[in-house]
Amino acid sequence: MDLPTLWYLTIGTLLIGAAMTLWERQAHGHRSRQLGIWAASYLVFAIGCVLAMNRREFPGPAGWALTNLVMVVGYTMVWHGAARLDGPVRALRYRYALIVALVVLGWAIAGAAYTDILWNHVSAFPIALISGLTAWTLWHSGTVRHLRSRPVAVAVFACHSLFYVLRIVVSPILVAAYGERLLPIFAKATMYEAVLYSMAMPMAFLALIREEYQAQLLTASRTDFLTGLGNRQGFFEQGTKILLRRGADRPVSLLAIDLDHFKAINDRYGHGVGDEVLKLFAGVARDMAGPDGIVARLGGEEFVILLPGLGCKAARQLGEAVSARFTAEAARQDGPGIEVTLSVGVAETKPDRNDLPALLSAADRALYQAKALGRNRVEIAGSAGVVAAA
Ligand code: GH3
Ligand code: MG
Ligand code: MG
Repeated sequence: MDLPTLWYLTIGTLLIGAAMTLWERQAHGHRSRQLGIWAASYLVFAIGCVLAMNRREFPGPAGWALTNLVMVVGYTMVWHGAARLDGPVRALRYRYALIVALVVLGWAIAGAAYTDILWNHVSAFPIALISGLTAWTLWHSGTVRHLRSRPVAVAVFACHSLFYVLRIVVSPILVAAYGERLLPIFAKATMYEAVLYSMAMPMAFLALIREEYQAQLLTASRTDFLTGLGNRQGFFEQGTKILLRRGADRPVSLLAIDLDHFKAINDRYGHGVGDEVLKLFAGVARDMAGPDGIVARLGGEEFVILLPGLGCKAARQLGEAVSARFTAEAARQDGPGIEVTLSVGVAETKPDRNDLPALLSAADRALYQAKALGRNRVEIAGSAGVVAAA
């Protein structure tokens, strides 16, 4: 393994990383800024590598200083892209400027007299620091908190930082003990790690962005576009989990809710007002269902509220309260200003059953009963001929 081969490999992987990141950028419009910053940083690193290979061509310590400076700028760009995952971060600009200024100052003051010490030992400082800060930023980012690839990305930068910390601490001690003949070995180890890092870094960032996008698609597939409530798929996924997790003696009730004569409202006031009424209902239901209640729109003007911990009597009271508040708010002149009511069917799971479709059809039958008995009312499954959940 000779040094130039490792440099060329690093440059190659950085260029491929930049190209792949730019290509991926087209598919992720909402992350185009971050991906653009990272792709640019890989190009800056590649330029840094070319400078490093030719640093002896420059006068005095200029080649060494310039290489170190370009690399540090690359690292701050990587950090900046990571920090921007949570939104624009103007405050950090001063920190970037401070770090870069310290590097320039260090080389300007001591570069001529201590070129080798700065290059072999001190230049590892800013790299360890910024990579450590990048790992810290990714670890604390609210945006990537729930992603599986977050620990991988954190590990890439934490390991890189640790490698440079070891270089700062260990290499001067070993060189003092065994002499300068160790320096070429450290240089090769550094470049071998650089090959791995220049591969792992773009892979980690692309994994984060792709996984974030997948999570957004998954959320969208479970969400109703008009009201922002869960849709049928979201309701069944979440509801099934809740039923499976409940204690045997803990009741779970379900309200099946349908807006009365909604077609007539659309016909009379227009679809726009109809949509407003649906959104109004969603807001009222979400507000009143409590932190544990699950509200979803199954389709059209049909909604459900799943209520863990509530028996059918308490659920019925809640259904009546939701109904009264919704009708009152719909009638307000600063709201839709129309008369609209709800029919509600209530069902409760039996202690030993966790069957969500059965619970829903029992609540649905109660809802039809409420419609048949004249609408604008709440009926409990099992009463008045309605069969309870199996
Ligand atoms: P009932 O009291 O028996 O439930 O009568 P209804 O008119 O409410 O029931 P029906 O099933 O006949 O009509 C439901 C209407 O809901 C028909 C459809 O135009 C309307 N609808 C469904 N989805 C939407 C929507 O997203 N926006 C609006 N504005 N209307 C919708
Ligand atoms: Mg209806
Ligand atoms: Mg309906």
